[in-house]
Amino acid sequence: MKRRIGGGQIELLRGNIVEQRVDAIVNAANTWMLGGGGVDGAIHAAAGPALLAECKRLPVDAGGRRCPTGETRTTAAGALDARYVIHAVGPVYDERYVDEVEQQLRSVHASALAAAADHECASIAFPAISTGAYRFPIARAAAIALDAVADFQRGPRALAEVRFVLFTVADLAVFERALAALDH
Ligand code: ADP
Repeated sequence: MKRRIGGGQIELLRGNIVEQRVDAIVNAANTWMLGGGGVDGAIHAAAGPALLAECKRLPVDAGGRRCPTGETRTTAAGALDARYVIHAVGPVYDERYVDEVEQQLRSVHASALAAAADHECASIAFPAISTGAYRFPIARAAAIALDAVADFQRGPRALAEVRFVLFTVADLAVFERALAALDH
């Protein structure tokens, strides 16, 4: 499914994030940026050891954290068919702090898009950040992610193509409903 919003196109497809040929691939990273499971593990495996080496060189705090929740860090993409990996640290879902985690999920998408624009990317591919190990309910995550992207795309730095790559048919259907429901 594709839809034109603002200055570019939003596309939804079922697939594997590591197989996308785009300027920037977004990683569902964690705050330490030393790899992990899910999307993070798949991206590090496909990109090769240069990616982890570059992550390790990023500034780190006393707790070993390289990127706070809701923010992103950009590296080269190693063996991936992309110019950059934008490491995005989504929130761990917590029903006691719904407003805060929703704001963090929105800001991580806005930050990734801004980083892509800063690096003159025309295309970017997102996974469904926070909806796996971090347990964010996917229907709500889809609505927030797409709304954040639509906001950015209506602005002056819109990217030509924003792609969401969903791992399952069921997840794709959830994103398709959310995109269809989005206001113009
Ligand atoms: P988080 O820790 O942010 O929740 P996960 O990597 O655990 O991140 O999962 C995020 C989403 O990405 C989940 O919906 C999961 O099914 C999906 N996913 C896992 N591996 C891949 C992959 N290789 N390509 C695209 N999506 C994937």
